[in-house]
Formats: sequence, structure tokens, C-alpha cells
Amino acid sequence: MRPYGCRGDAAPPLGPLAPTLVRATTFAHGSAEALRAVGAGERDGEFYPRYGHPAARAFESAVAEAEGVDGAVSFASGMAALHALFCAPLGDGLVAVARDVYGGTTALLEKDLPRFGIRVVRFDPFGTLDFKGARLVHIETPTNPLCRVVDVARVAKAAHAAGALLSVDATFAPPPLQRVCSLGADIVMHSATKYMGGHSDAIGGVVGGRHEHLQAIEGFRRRTGGILGPDTAWLVARSMKTLALRARQQSETAGRLARFLAGRKGVAAVHYPGLLGHPDHAVARRQMEMPGAMLAFEVEGGLAAAVRVYDRFRVIGRAVSLGGVETIASLPVHTSHAMVPAADRARMGVADGLIRLSVGLEPFETLAGDLQQALPT
Ligand code: PLP
Repeated sequence: MRPYGCRGDAAPPLGPLAPTLVRATTFAHGSAEALRAVGAGERDGEFYPRYGHPAARAFESAVAEAEGVDGAVSFASGMAALHALFCAPLGDGLVAVARDVYGGTTALLEKDLPRFGIRVVRFDPFGTLDFKGARLVHIETPTNPLCRVVDVARVAKAAHAAGALLSVDATFAPPPLQRVCSLGADIVMHSATKYMGGHSDAIGGVVGGRHEHLQAIEGFRRRTGGILGPDTAWLVARSMKTLALRARQQSETAGRLARFLAGRKGVAAVHYPGLLGHPDHAVARRQMEMPGAMLAFEVEGGLAAAVRVYDRFRVIGRAVSLGGVETIASLPVHTSHAMVPAADRARMGVADGLIRLSVGLEPFETLAGDLQQALPT
């Protein structure tokens, strides 16, 4: 497989082998007619970067290639991408959003969208599905932090039966680990801050799918101004070339670490879709090439015991976010789920002693050694 975003499949590449970085915010043209035609989209050429610019287009075409979709629209962050996805004119009706989504998404749904007249309903993606009256159904897979895998084809079928589109936040498992549009989703979304950027040095977001939907989303981006800036777009376009290699290697190491942790002294449970005992193991096998590089494990003895293990890490970083080449760990009770009431957390299965790992590119032996010395003996 050639790296995403590289040209020259059929013939040797010509010209620059890295994306072009253009910081200019305006472009001179030869005549009134030339400027008018470029602005009207009748002629190719640079016009104004809020509408698009070379580095953003390089990133977007690499994402489209990776996801196997018509195109992509890039944003200044994952949240800006979600904002556009929920607010762009994609039809009439409700937005139905899975119960298990990123906390920032829930905050946007609860605090902002209703003020703009957008009605939101929540649903259990593992339960009975009925999307009557919805224009858009939105899910996340794998989920945070328990790495549940939602059956995309099942949700797509129910969404389409109701005349709704299905969008999927696939941030936790980028291509080639899964390609949700090939499973029936209409729109895929990523926080590019995670695996696509991959080096913990760029914030961005992206939405991919079919031209007809992307047109509405790109129009919304023009009006609201959320495009990814040139320097960051250049970084994430560059990172797309190593995405497949990184994602596969990180997933391979995560699988080995999950097996290493399972049944270990002091570990009450391991949540990883690659393990036979995971509730969605069969779905993951069916719809994912590999189960991903995110896992969570529960330390026996609750939060105090988990904090003791966490504070003993020597290699694994204590940090939020995910998807970078360095392995980092977070305590969901202190971070992503800090605002969720304890009773709701218990109902969701997010134990107080849970540690979430975003597995990077360090050798398995280094990471297993760090976990071993941190866990009780
Ligand atoms: N979606 C998921 C699954 C996330 O984990 C995050 C951030 O952690 C986002 C969306 C938001 O992305 P960003 O932080 O790039 O705005």
C-alpha cells in the first residue's frame, strides 16, 4: 500500500514531493475577468484562503483517499468539524446522537445547538434503534474510554430506513484500521489532533463523504470561517503519509499489551476489542482491519489504587488526548468523565479505578516493563 497523500501511482512522481505551503491571504490575477472567474469557481486558481488553500486541499485529498470517499473538508479542530456537521444544511429534522460520545460533543449538543433551534435526541447504539423524524444520526466508534465497537452497518440500516444520514466520529480508529463509509456510513469525521496529526503538535478536524453532503458542509465552513490554517494543514498533510504505518504498529503493540495486562495481579478488567471476552469482539473482527491502539484497564482497589499505579509510570506519559507516537495514559474519572455524576459513570461501566492508554510507537517490551513495575507485585 502506498502512503496516503503521495502522488505517482502509475508513473514516477514529478514536482515537489511534499505539500505546498502557501501563507498568502490574497492573490493577484491578470484581469477583472480572471479574478471574477476564479471567485465564481469557473476557473482554477487561488482566491481567498477561508474558501480553501493548497495545504488544506493536500490534507483533504489524503483523507479522502484514506477513507475511500469522494472528498473531505478540513477544520481548525475536531470540535469545529462537529459544529459544521451538526449545523450545515443537511436536511430537516432531529439530530440523533449516541449516548457514548466525547464529552465536548455532548457539551455542544446540550449547551449550544438547542439555542439555534436544532433539536437533539440521544440513543443507545447497542439497543433498539428507531430514528423516526431524524435528519442525521451520529455515533462514535470505538467509544471512549471502554472501546465499545458500534455495529456501523446495523445503525446505517436503521438511519437510512428513517430517511436520515449516518455520520461517524472515527477518531479512535483511523484508516486503515476501519473505513466506516464502506460499512454504510454517509459521513466520517475525525479529530485530526489525534492519529491523523499523530505527533501531538497539531490541532485540526476533518469531515469526509460524498460530494453532495460536503458541498453543504464546505458552504457552512465558508460562512463560519472554521477552516484549518495553512501551517497546521501542512503538518497534518505530511503526517498522513505515515498514518497507515503508525496506526497498524500502534494497534499491534496495543493488542500485545492488552493480552499482557489481562489476568495480571492487580488488574480487575481489560477493555480492548481485540480480546475474546470483549462484548464487541465479533463486531470488531467483522468491521475493523485491526482493533486499534486505545485500551483501558481497571485497577483493583478503585481510584486510590489506580492513582498509585498511574503515578509510578516512568515511560508512559500522564496526559490527556490520544493518537500520538508517545504512549500516554489518563484517568477518565479525573479527565474525560470528571463532569459525569458518579452514578451515571457506574451505569456506563466507567469504574473509578480505570486507566486509559493511548499506545504509541515505543517497543512492546518497554511499555510492558513500565506497566509491570507500576502494578502491584
Ligand atoms: N471526537 C473525539 C472522539 C475526541 O476524543 C475529541 C477530542 O478529544 C474530539 C472529537 C474533539 O477534537 P478536538 O480536540 O480536535 O477539537
